[in-house]
Amino acid sequence: MLAYTYLEQGRFALCEKPKPQIQDSRDALVRVTLGSICTSDLHIKHGSVPRAVPGITVGHEMVGVVEQVGSDVVSVKPGDRVTVNVETFCGHCFFCRHGYVNNCEDPNGGWALGCRIDGGQAEYVRVPYADQGLNRIPDKVTDEQALFVGDILATGFWAARISEIKPEDTVLIIGAGPTGICTLLCVMLKHPRRIIVCEKSEERIRFVQEHYPEVLVVEPDNCQSFVGEQSEHGGADVVIEVAGSDDSFTLAWKCARPNAIVTVVALYDRPQVLPLPDMYGKNLTFKTGGVDGCDCAEILRLIAEGKIDTTPLITHRFPLREIEEAYHIFENRKDGVIKVAIEGC
Ligand SMILES: [Zn+2]
Ligand SMILES: [Zn+2]
Repeated sequence: MLAYTYLEQGRFALCEKPKPQIQDSRDALVRVTLGSICTSDLHIKHGSVPRAVPGITVGHEMVGVVEQVGSDVVSVKPGDRVTVNVETFCGHCFFCRHGYVNNCEDPNGGWALGCRIDGGQAEYVRVPYADQGLNRIPDKVTDEQALFVGDILATGFWAARISEIKPEDTVLIIGAGPTGICTLLCVMLKHPRRIIVCEKSEERIRFVQEHYPEVLVVEPDNCQSFVGEQSEHGGADVVIEVAGSDDSFTLAWKCARPNAIVTVVALYDRPQVLPLPDMYGKNLTFKTGGVDGCDCAEILRLIAEGKIDTTPLITHRFPLREIEEAYHIFENRKDGVIKVAIEGC
């Protein structure tokens, strides 16, 4: 089968590999019908994910059809359409039982798929702990509607959940890339008084204004003063930082009112400084990533009810054999791209 593979730092290539096999009684084999490219794939390509294993098939955002299951798998069966979770988790250890599945104690716990074990930019993918890693897609939900459930939408949902948003709150979301927009959609479900999105790209600003006209949009340079004017208590009640630059991290805590919650979803290339003397007395609560991706069933239900729609994010489509071109467009942000769907993976 065709599998897009991490060869070495800076190099991915489409390779011919054997079809994966069930290795454990809790595994499932999934025929990938639709996949996507995530910014984290680019992080692997450029060497900023040291635990990524050269030779693995990349890709961790996908939906497909169950082809085969191990003897201990109970929640899905061959023929089921499923979303695949970016995270591998056992469901039984201390962290899993508390919903902290990102820290599952299994050696492959957390983000393994398409990083430490073969992922889904391929025709088939083996999913460990299939009862946890797969969710059945409701009949009326399409592959396109479900494509982001296991990764960026799970991230946005988790970010909104842990941010303790109340109806009277002003919520600031920094960054309107794909994960930022997924976060926005999930914050909207909490109906806070005001949502402000901070973004510098003109294209992304236009996308937010066009699709979510009720949301206020501001550029980074004016963000702090704008948020101050739009808030009752001198800053945002909740800040969710999804952009991942040095500037955006600083902006996040500066735009927060005293005693606010600052949720840091972003993955940074470099360490960030918490200047505690400057923020002394502000009494902020920081919450940090990565995602505990255990809300996929609920997210699928919300999609089926028409409450979440991420299909406008899919701006481009390519067949698997043209995945190089898809990466080129995604990586260089060409042609107004937000997300690329890879068909018939
Ligand atoms: Zn991802
Ligand atoms: Zn576990």
